[in-house]
Amino acid sequence: MRLADRRKLIDSSGIRKVFDLAAKLPNPCNLSIGMPDFDVPDEVKDAAIAAIRAGHNRYTQTAGIPALKTAILEHYRAKGHEFEDVIVTSGTSGGLFMLFLATLNPGDEVLVPDPYFVMYKHLLRFLGIVPVFVDTYPDFRVTKERLAAKLTPKTRMVLVNTPGNPTGVVGSEQEMREVAAFAQEHDLILVSDEIYEPFSYDGTFTSPKKFNKDAVVLSGLSKTVAMTGWRVGWLLGPTDLIKAMMEIQQYTFVCAPSPAQHAGIPALRHDMTETQRGYRDRRNIMYEGLLNAGFSVQKPSGAFYIFPEAPGGDGEKFVEAAIRHSLLVVPGSVFSERNTHFRISYAATEEELKRGLSILEKTRKEFV
Ligand code: PMP
Repeated sequence: MRLADRRKLIDSSGIRKVFDLAAKLPNPCNLSIGMPDFDVPDEVKDAAIAAIRAGHNRYTQTAGIPALKTAILEHYRAKGHEFEDVIVTSGTSGGLFMLFLATLNPGDEVLVPDPYFVMYKHLLRFLGIVPVFVDTYPDFRVTKERLAAKLTPKTRMVLVNTPGNPTGVVGSEQEMREVAAFAQEHDLILVSDEIYEPFSYDGTFTSPKKFNKDAVVLSGLSKTVAMTGWRVGWLLGPTDLIKAMMEIQQYTFVCAPSPAQHAGIPALRHDMTETQRGYRDRRNIMYEGLLNAGFSVQKPSGAFYIFPEAPGGDGEKFVEAAIRHSLLVVPGSVFSERNTHFRISYAATEEELKRGLSILEKTRKEFV
């Protein structure tokens, strides 16, 4: 079939190559997946089932059911963040898509700290918007100087993601203050993707919203309570933006799935203490294991990713070798304009992490 030229603006070959190689493996150790390894908590499942039985199976209001919207606004208020309004979206991805559609014109530039969540680059390009990458190697810190070096008259937005995918780095209070001031000074829309916020292990998470009242915050339930397939996210920001996004949602996604929105209320209240402890322990196993095996790596403070340097300096080559030993990890080039690192997801059992570490150690020996 003849397809649109727009398609060529997206390149998913990097990740596809990994999956193609992986499909041939009989029993791989899979540390490539960006989702929790636990199931949705029972009280959340019960709420979804009850919602279906109670007949909450129709379209909801475009911006989401009022009870969930109130619960989200309250959730942020309790952390000291007041937002004018909120829209419930079809996952955080849906929120990102509609945000870009509502705020940016083709040719506008967005500052994207590199490494970045892979969707940003492709989604922006798909819409004719220009992602301008701000290299943050080797410490993955977003500083005023790094941002300023990429500022042009076309810059309209700065997009931060903390805790970060793929690095696991959590922006410090000072960094967030700088980013917030930078956005204000240059009249840029400040966007913070905080989907991994509950996965911050050293108590260091700060939202840039703390320092910029106009900041737009995105988050969702995919990672917190493992509702990846239920598609519930949200975006908080000024009322005029939410109204513009509602118009887009009305003619695209229509609404986030109704039973999942009803389940979102107990999901938001779910106690994350145990989950956090489990991931922190696994972060420690992975980080210490990598150091002991001779890898060079930044200690992550959040999410469930770690982003070591590839021995030999070529991320894709290293990942191909790891896959030959039955370990699935993702080359850094999928998330970056550089190909020097690789991403490990430690959302897996301790046993799998140990298996992965021993394969990594073996693979490393081929490169040094
Ligand atoms: N932002 C980041 C940083 C992510 O890692 C992900 C999922 N991998 C998303 C947004 C999208 O999540 P969802 O659409 O499932 O809410």
